[in-house]
Amino acid sequence: MSLVVVGSIAFDAVKTPFGERERMLGGSAVHFSLAASFFTDVRVVGPVGDDFGDDEYAVLQKRGVNTDDIERVEGGKTFFWRGDYEYDLNTAHTRDTQLGVFGEFQPKLSDEAKQADYLFLANIVPQLQSQVREEANGARLVGLDSMNLWIENEHDALAEAIGKVDILFLNDAEVRMFAKEPNLVRAARSVMATGPGVVVAKQGEYGAALFVGDRFFSLPAFPLETVMDPTGAGDSFAGGFMGYLASRGPDALADNTELRRAMTYGSVIASFNVEEFGTERVARLTRREIDERYSELRRMTSLGEIS
Ligand code: AMP
Repeated sequence: MSLVVVGSIAFDAVKTPFGERERMLGGSAVHFSLAASFFTDVRVVGPVGDDFGDDEYAVLQKRGVNTDDIERVEGGKTFFWRGDYEYDLNTAHTRDTQLGVFGEFQPKLSDEAKQADYLFLANIVPQLQSQVREEANGARLVGLDSMNLWIENEHDALAEAIGKVDILFLNDAEVRMFAKEPNLVRAARSVMATGPGVVVAKQGEYGAALFVGDRFFSLPAFPLETVMDPTGAGDSFAGGFMGYLASRGPDALADNTELRRAMTYGSVIASFNVEEFGTERVARLTRREIDERYSELRRMTSLGEIS
């Protein structure tokens, strides 16, 4: 089953207490597609400038990601994001954003992209998310991620986009901020009343919580001794989650066990992502490593025998 992702394709400059990189491959759609590529066919849609070279394409193509729908704008510059983190790695501080080719981006989906069964609207301006959702008329299951910037500046447009999707991924603070409700459970339920049947509230190093109907599932993050750079953790989580669901067929959305497995795969891939900078670790990850960590996380979170 094929999965299309529309979002940012970027160069990131990132500084954490453990090191820094001046220019590395990043972007919401890039982190998402690398993670999802372990489970299903992935096609990435987004613009790049002519500074986006063969080495960057190669990272995606080596993982089998279809790059035919990447639009290369001659004379344009690829989206650039600069951010840093203090010892609290859960909070990214944005220092610079240069839209470059994103400024005039009008998504044009190929026929293959329009017909894909699964769609992920990664973090971009919400008006574009809505537009893509409407164009992708073949999509039977749609996920969406966003960020505080759009919650603060484009609340109505974001609400419209969220109303059109099945699964919403946000940080827990963002769920509260979007719903204007300080209690996470109430906030998630109020968002669900507007459309998405599933809300995933990401909680950084503390894990993630899943709301579906009147049910709830919570999973801690995999305990790591080394965390270098959390950039892309949210997108890797969503990529693992959506990629796994896509590999199980559209009925998986109604199956609580499948949703729990999707949470676990999301968490596992995010845990690899943060061990090194940018896409470095996930680019050379193997399915075997994923499955080993999945089993470990399962063991760690199992109640076992209750007497
Ligand atoms: P996250 O998974 O939330 O850590 O997302 C990290 C990625 O988001 C980085 O690789 C950035 O390139 C990208 N990003 C940062 N700001 C924006 C923005 N305003 N729109 C789209 N993507 C962004």
